[in-house]
Amino acid sequence: MDTRKRNVDIEVVQSCGTHYNQCHTSVVTNEIQQIIPFTWEQVKEAQHQDEEINNIINDIRNHKKYFIKDNMLMKKACPPVPVIPKGRIRSDIIKIYHDTLANGAHFGRDRTINKIQQRYFWPGIISDIHNFIKSCLLCSQNNPLRQKPPGAFKQIKPPDGIWQLLTMDFHGSITPTTKNGNKYTALSNEKRTNWDEQLPFVTFNYNTTIHRTTNQIPFELIYGRKPILPFDQQQPLVTLSQDPEHKTKLNQHLSVLTEQPKATILEQQRKYREHYDRYRTNPIYKINDIILVKTLNKRNKFDIIYEGPFKITQQLGKTKFIVEHIKKHTLVRQVTIDVIIPLCERKRMD
Ligand SMILES: [Zn+2]
Repeated sequence: MDTRKRNVDIEVVQSCGTHYNQCHTSVVTNEIQQIIPFTWEQVKEAQHQDEEINNIINDIRNHKKYFIKDNMLMKKACPPVPVIPKGRIRSDIIKIYHDTLANGAHFGRDRTINKIQQRYFWPGIISDIHNFIKSCLLCSQNNPLRQKPPGAFKQIKPPDGIWQLLTMDFHGSITPTTKNGNKYTALSNEKRTNWDEQLPFVTFNYNTTIHRTTNQIPFELIYGRKPILPFDQQQPLVTLSQDPEHKTKLNQHLSVLTEQPKATILEQQRKYREHYDRYRTNPIYKINDIILVKTLNKRNKFDIIYEGPFKITQQLGKTKFIVEHIKKHTLVRQVTIDVIIPLCERKRMD
């Protein structure tokens, strides 16, 4: 892919003049593409070479949203603005009002749209601006995602009974392995230092508390009776009775207890998935896709949030990829789907 079209460092030394003045823009660029300044005469000329615009001009009475002023097709708006013909003037305009420090300074979508619509019009102007900003490298690298990380929820079939399904979160496999040859890291959300002392209590509390997903107390699922907690009132006299039916009763009780959580788990999964998937993208990446990778060790607040661009060179699993930096080919990394974002390809407008 030709990356030169994506990312252009442009600096406008002298910015564009106001409407109906001659526009003298001098541009410094370190890439091939640059903004070519245009005059209103050139816009008029280009208008007359544009078939769509000519059709409107020749039938202006039936196009109530337009009018002609000084031989230029204008869109009725507040203020009225010239209609920009197809071609590179359109992309130059977006570049000026988004990329350049003095006019746009990489402000977001709504501000850029507003700024350009105050000055120009063309059919599809909003989607063109959307695409331009979505494909802007600097914006992608620096703007935090205001949406959930990508990837839709994958449902796990509820188990038929206790101890039939154990899950834990882990990270890996990592290459190279650790000094001890370990490939995986187990993850825990709790940040406690005295885990050894805390763990039995945490486990006990977890097991004796009602679980939102199963709507059951884990202790009861195993022992068939309610747990007695240290602070619970207890009978001063404990009698141990022998019940010949105990085993049958326990089995009946347990089978009721294990059937009910299955339905509850399914319902909880449905609710959770609905919440999880809402507003979440589920991108599918292919080899050669261009992506950005979340900066791992941000040293300060203003470091870029995403590094790159990288190209996907290998897929190792559903969520694991090998990526190579577009320019520094020796920079190769293994990444997981949650730390990458797609870099949109910029549509050609000329
Ligand atoms: Zn930008």
